[in-house]
Amino acid sequence: MSQTPRPRPAVIPEQAVESLLQDTTPWLSCEECFERMDTYAEAALHDPQHRDEAMTAHLRGCSACEEEAQSLIDLLEGQ
Ligand SMILES: [Zn+2]
Repeated sequence: MSQTPRPRPAVIPEQAVESLLQDTTPWLSCEECFERMDTYAEAALHDPQHRDEAMTAHLRGCSACEEEAQSLIDLLEGQ
């Protein structure tokens, strides 16, 4: 009888689950994020249909860019 390896661990450590739920692999680098931040901020204010999942995912995981985006939105909003 041959032993076939299990496809995945029987018990997934809680920590692993957490790191899966958190987006630890942003699709954008911070640089790319900054490049499209103008578009993102404009869209956030003027285009409710606009979806940029890569941006959203990055901003969720990167507080530096999130703050930057938010202050840009605030700035545009104040104009
Ligand atoms: Zn970032």
